[in-house]
Amino acid sequence: MKQNRRKFLKTSGLLAGAAITSGYLTNIHPITKKSGAKMSGKMKLSYKPYTLQLKHVFTVATSSRTTTPVVLTEIEYEGITGYGEASMPPYLGESHESVLNFLSKVDLSIYDNVFDLEKIFNDIDKIAPGNPAAKASVDIALHDLIGKLLNKPWYNIWGFNKHNTPYTSFTIGIDTPGVVRQKVKEAEEYKVLKVKLGRDTDKEMIETIRSVTDKPLTVDVNQGWKDKHFALDMIHWLSEQNVEFVEQPMPKENIDDMAWLTERSPLPTIADESIQRLSDVIKAHGVFNGINIKLMKCTGMREAHKMLTLARSLGMKVMIGCMTETSCAISAASHLSTMVDWADLDGALLISNDVFDGTKIIDGKVTLNDRPGIGVVKI
Ligand code: MG
Repeated sequence: MKQNRRKFLKTSGLLAGAAITSGYLTNIHPITKKSGAKMSGKMKLSYKPYTLQLKHVFTVATSSRTTTPVVLTEIEYEGITGYGEASMPPYLGESHESVLNFLSKVDLSIYDNVFDLEKIFNDIDKIAPGNPAAKASVDIALHDLIGKLLNKPWYNIWGFNKHNTPYTSFTIGIDTPGVVRQKVKEAEEYKVLKVKLGRDTDKEMIETIRSVTDKPLTVDVNQGWKDKHFALDMIHWLSEQNVEFVEQPMPKENIDDMAWLTERSPLPTIADESIQRLSDVIKAHGVFNGINIKLMKCTGMREAHKMLTLARSLGMKVMIGCMTETSCAISAASHLSTMVDWADLDGALLISNDVFDGTKIIDGKVTLNDRPGIGVVKI
């Protein structure tokens, strides 16, 4: 496996380069010219902090919380507004303060061509390292604006079929058996449940859920299993419990152990904390069977699309995930969901104070609408 990975790394640079240069943007320019969209005027970025209230205390292997800070962005251009969002779960290191600070350095008024996404996002990326959610909030708003200027939804611009969306999993956090049973009942509408594992109650969690439902499960260990032999035993046990895949079973630093585990695992392994951006897809190949793409990790829709393309070209499985987010960022991600193996887009379902109407989850299925851009309106 090690040797294969080394051999692969030699050629992978070429693939990454191809993904970068053959992006979807080349498809936009002809449409732009035909549509005759105006190319004058100045973009104006505005933003405000907001706090999402969670319906339940949300517990994963490493933390618990009842709120999530987000920043809502808008880009106004010639009377049209694009909406975006940054979501900052505390364990990822961004905050209201860091996002507002980053956005104060973004000046979109200097760009004459609003369709020049490659240049605009490359410039924004260089303002400071990190800050992926802050960058995503501009990326999403600009994608929304451009979709509205073209009067097309993004699945359409990308050439995807809006009906090919998957069912989303619904997340069940770590909790006592009584609360877990209650959460499973509340999740009746959803066809797949995503179970958070990684503490010492893992088998109890699964057995509790299996006492009330036999629907397919996916599990997310959030790096919680430290020993590869223990992890393999657990995955063998889970493979007999109608579990579809195992997300991030081991700490992200344990690359060789993870490759060992993937080679032997009876279930697909999916990288979440181990991957963030486009270049990480290469590193995950041969270590995991697939990747979990999240807009808040990878700086937004532009890079997420490239990651999807690259992972597919490598024969890897792809899931699209989310943080707790309003329907704004969830809708943005949903346009890519037509091309994935699994979706975990339940972020807006977990909050009680959404401020957007957009992509809906209907009978558990991600359901895109026909609105242009990312498909949201303010409520
Ligand atoms: Mg995860």
